[in-house]
Amino acid sequence: MLVVMQEGATEPQIQAVIDRLVNMGFTVHRSTGVRHTVLGGVGPLENFDPADFEVMDGVKECHRIISPYKLASRHFRPGGTVVRVGNVEIGGDKLVIMAGPCSVESKDQIERTAEAVARSGAAVIRGGAFKPRSSPYSFQGLGEQGLELLRAAADRHGLLVVSEVMDHTQIPLLAAYADILQVGARNMQNYNLLRKLGELRKPVLLKRGPAATIEELLLSAEYILAGGNYDVILCERGIRTFESYTRNTMDICAIPVVKKLSHLPIVADPSHGTGRRDKVLPMARAAIAAGADGLLIEVHCDPDHALSDGAQSLWPDQFAELMGQLRIIASAVGRRL
Ligand code: PEP
Ligand code: MN
Repeated sequence: MLVVMQEGATEPQIQAVIDRLVNMGFTVHRSTGVRHTVLGGVGPLENFDPADFEVMDGVKECHRIISPYKLASRHFRPGGTVVRVGNVEIGGDKLVIMAGPCSVESKDQIERTAEAVARSGAAVIRGGAFKPRSSPYSFQGLGEQGLELLRAAADRHGLLVVSEVMDHTQIPLLAAYADILQVGARNMQNYNLLRKLGELRKPVLLKRGPAATIEELLLSAEYILAGGNYDVILCERGIRTFESYTRNTMDICAIPVVKKLSHLPIVADPSHGTGRRDKVLPMARAAIAAGADGLLIEVHCDPDHALSDGAQSLWPDQFAELMGQLRIIASAVGRRL
């Protein structure tokens, strides 16, 4: 349930509502907005009367939330969530572009790619050190050495780092090197991992599973939020359909749907969404036009020799071209780059 406090409700009034919720067995999540404080009560109780809360001092309204996710719901933070990492804000006016190779492969590769994406205006470098590959014989990533290389290249170019965590035992290692921990599509429903990430106080980039509905994506986010980690960034990365021309089907419409249902920021990954370099620019443009808060894009200094996902990785000059196009689209939809 959600209790929306009146504008100007006092701290004692807010506390009285919290105390009552706690006494009834609810876990309380507080969202302090510019105008209203919203208290989200998550608990086993189904049959309570919202009117009991509506008559309390300082309360504006109380709603039973019928959607299966509560904290991920737009009602919890009607004004939307801005995730702050260093001096970067994800979910604000400014679009955030995360770019880099699929995998960290070598010092030279990550350095050249970091230099290129930073020069074009990316704020975050991506790069996997632990790679979830369909085949056990494919390149699996450099592990901790990859994280070291990624961090050093990012620091040299003033970039933040996003990198994938494949299971809960890797969280401390990833948290030591990365600013944002990525949960890959294959792990969207790894509930042990999600629960542990709820205990972390670092942003999580949660990718939509290849066969997950939007509701399932938001329920996975709910696992992280329920642990008290509210810094979740969603990512649309294409879903598996009957279409086989592209690697996945880029579900652009998921972006406005998520924006309506949830307060969480959402970025788009047109690299995995299409699997083809020549389709990345149009889908990136479409995602920003559709309201995405940013992009996750694979860029490689030498994609023809990439150890993973070369066919969908942009050349640095294609990435630069895309950034120029995005500036124009951003201003058309009231955003900045
Ligand atoms: C990746 O970002 O490189 C990746 C493995 O993506 P996904 O989990 O979306 O397949
Ligand atoms: Mn990849």
